[in-house]
Amino acid sequence: MERICDLHIHSKYSGGTSNRIDIFNIASNCKIKGIDIVGTGDCFHPFWLKELKDNLVEYSSGFFRVEQVPEVSFILQTEVEVIWKYNSQVKNAHFLILIPNFEKLDEVIGFLSKLSNLSNGRPKVFISPEKLILNLKSIENLIEIIPAHIFTPYFGILGSKLHFNSIYEALGQGVEHVYSVETGLSADPQMVRMISELNRFSIISNSDCHSINFHRLGREGTAINFNKLNYPNLIDSIRRNKIVKTYEFKPSEGRYFYNGHRAERHFNGIEYYCSPKRNINKCPNCGKELTRGVLSRVYELRDQEPPNHHNFQYIVPLLYLISITLGGTEYTKKNLLIYQKLIRDNKGEYNIWNGNSNYNGIPNELINAIEKIRSGKYWFLPGYDGVYGQLQFEA
Ligand SMILES: [Zn+2]
Ligand SMILES: [Zn+2]
Repeated sequence: MERICDLHIHSKYSGGTSNRIDIFNIASNCKIKGIDIVGTGDCFHPFWLKELKDNLVEYSSGFFRVEQVPEVSFILQTEVEVIWKYNSQVKNAHFLILIPNFEKLDEVIGFLSKLSNLSNGRPKVFISPEKLILNLKSIENLIEIIPAHIFTPYFGILGSKLHFNSIYEALGQGVEHVYSVETGLSADPQMVRMISELNRFSIISNSDCHSINFHRLGREGTAINFNKLNYPNLIDSIRRNKIVKTYEFKPSEGRYFYNGHRAERHFNGIEYYCSPKRNINKCPNCGKELTRGVLSRVYELRDQEPPNHHNFQYIVPLLYLISITLGGTEYTKKNLLIYQKLIRDNKGEYNIWNGNSNYNGIPNELINAIEKIRSGKYWFLPGYDGVYGQLQFEA
């Protein structure tokens, strides 16, 4: 049976402040939205770990749930910022880590706490990716390490600020134990497949959301076929590329698609962005180097034509679509009520993009907007330098 997974989220200990947010809230929001399997986020954090241990019950190898919401499975997951020196340059890259059970998690924490302070949602760990991967693999082969949002400028392993032109160079011997890469919001599988050295990696997509913004859970996701729900089967699907499809942002919606400088960088408040095709490196407003986006980076690394057939599907966050269409924001009460009704009536957000059309009591403008998204009649003013792209409809 096909299940929707969001394997990269964060807890309230990564920047969020509301104590109201707990593992139960994450579970119930995943259920409403149609997410079957979700990462716990931040599982190295001592307070969050305590909450996980107190509330999660392992019902199948490596799959956990909270009693009140048995429909949603959790796996132990975190993201770390790996910091190391390479050819006398300091490098920072994000990695997603999936862990099969609490015993192995305690071992990993025991090892990493000697190198790093883990009391951060997404901790900084001072070790090379190669050593990180080899050490975690010596603890347990089922621990999965996945380079996160690989093209984003600051922390993606192939991002423009890291200056690695090959994932093999960046990960050293560790690369042999890596089977998968995460696209990030500003890239899609087609862009990954323009780079031949990435051909052997499966592709996953996740929300990377902070759980305080529940509607962002599953804004990107990965559909995987399971015969039996457990952690070894999940890892097997990732390693043997048995992924059904990923749900993707249009990359132009992501915050690092084009090259540019956002308005706050300039005293006159003028923003600037440009396509990589224009080949402009310096900002005409401030003269400093532009933040290079993902598209530019992929153009630089690409060495093959991507295949015509792709197993992914573009989606637009529904609550965002509602706020664009009906006015207000993603936090306006009226919009939230319409959102909740729509996803309740259609048994989840993905079902709407996959053809469910229970539009009972929904304003016509919104129905039209949903239909336009479904038929691909939309585009984005591209995102750049931390600014999201802006949705535009074709006439
Ligand atoms: Zn990250
Ligand atoms: Zn500038």
